[in-house]
Amino acid sequence: MQEQSQIFVGGKLVKSDAKTRIDVISPNTEEVIGRVPDATPADVDRAVAAAREAFDKGPFPRWSPEERADGISRLSEALKKRSQEIANTISSENGSPIASSLGLQVLSSTMVLDVYAGLAREFPFDETRKGLMGQPVRVRRAPVGVCAAVVPWNVPLYVMAMKLGPALAAGCTVIVKAAPETALDPYPLMEAIQEANLPPGVLNVLSAGRETSEYLVKHAGVDKVSFTGSTATGSRIGAICGEQVKRCTLELGGKSAGIVLEDVNLASAVPQMLGAGLMNNGQACAAQTRFLVPRSRYKEVVDAMAAGMAAMKVGSSLDPATQIGPVVAKRQRDKILGYLDAGKKAGAKVATGGGAPKSEKKGWFIEPTLFYDVDNQMKIAREEIFGPVLVVIPYDGEEEAIAIANDSDYGLGGGVWCGSTAHGVEVAARIRTGTITVNTAMLVDMKSPFGGFKKSGIGRECGPEGLAPYLEYQSIIQPAG
Ligand code: NAD
Repeated sequence: MQEQSQIFVGGKLVKSDAKTRIDVISPNTEEVIGRVPDATPADVDRAVAAAREAFDKGPFPRWSPEERADGISRLSEALKKRSQEIANTISSENGSPIASSLGLQVLSSTMVLDVYAGLAREFPFDETRKGLMGQPVRVRRAPVGVCAAVVPWNVPLYVMAMKLGPALAAGCTVIVKAAPETALDPYPLMEAIQEANLPPGVLNVLSAGRETSEYLVKHAGVDKVSFTGSTATGSRIGAICGEQVKRCTLELGGKSAGIVLEDVNLASAVPQMLGAGLMNNGQACAAQTRFLVPRSRYKEVVDAMAAGMAAMKVGSSLDPATQIGPVVAKRQRDKILGYLDAGKKAGAKVATGGGAPKSEKKGWFIEPTLFYDVDNQMKIAREEIFGPVLVVIPYDGEEEAIAIANDSDYGLGGGVWCGSTAHGVEVAARIRTGTITVNTAMLVDMKSPFGGFKKSGIGRECGPEGLAPYLEYQSIIQPAG
């Protein structure tokens, strides 16, 4: 049991103003495993003041790109030293299977920081070009200012790193607002920030619920909000930022299609398809959760997927043999059970799973569930379930597959599973989605833009495109000749 009374402001752990605590509850045991302060508006004021001071007066925004890159590298190294501790903490908080959380939760985070350390060294932050009259114009990419990073619980450190990397590379200062469900893993991050020796106030970290989080988003001292979470919350945050003309990046939900083509090699594709659909217990924004399957291979695909899912070991997220751990919270488990009911009532058939496993007496478990004979208009095909639940939709001909894939409010991820990768790439290019893979379960490439079409978001993270939202252009026009 971890008890914390502090938040991270101005380069050190300081006592929170909070009278109430956030209980972090194990999804394995349903027991409280930690308590942290539920940060108050006064805590947010202090964090914003520290970030403001570090931006307006501090040396950090004027550090050279190389110095900023070195700072990011030091943060990455400090996190690497704490990898196992962080992986254990996150798996305890959100049910992410420990066997994969070192890679998915921690290595991914340090990798994205390393990508931004590299980018900071080579990015053209400052250039002089010839203007219309031949005069020199210095074009600067100036840091956007004080950023609020509001993150979810499913890949908490990775999402933070996707924001901290570019923010630091740009010269911004940040207030990280962690999700209440995963309010413990920010503590090793705070230690790592101290060890990275960044100037006080450059990074500030606290956890809070909805109201205080919204207070941070609205705060006059915040110049930019970078949000990752549900589409409902993103729409609310986007409205606030629109009203305030505040810069805003939104990384939201998805209902991504995995398109299986006729010439697929099932032996190699199915294990990867299941990985792309069920990683992190299906609690992944870009997970492929709608599989579109040609009628000519329909039974074969459904049988192979169902066999793979039925063989998955469900159990405590801290057991190294576990492939599917519990979902994050009772609220989430109940919501998923509601989707399972809705699917059955709508006439979808269950190939495997379909409820909570009887073997687990405690914890918020859901059996890996495969629905087939699903129509794309059913609720289970349209809404993000965010658990170990996949649906299979039959199609006739590639044109119909493309139309079904695009018939979604979302456009975040996706995949094409096929014999000819070159043809798969042609199909992929016709899907209205931010990232799509062909014959690989790798959902994100950190050197390439990641983000959503449609209701999956606005803006991009990763790669140089993910740096742009933390920069403002400034043109300094000088007399000719
Ligand atoms: P959520 O929207 O409930 O919460 C996300 C964060 O926003 C949390 O820190 C929460 O405390 C905060 N928040 C909630 N209401 C707020 C408000 N009114 N103002 C300001 N902050 C507020 O999402 P969640 O349940 O934590 O995360 C799951 C969702 O995140 C899924 O929809 C998933 O697809 C999405 N997600 C998207 C990406 C991506 O990159 N596109 C990555 C991971 C998760």
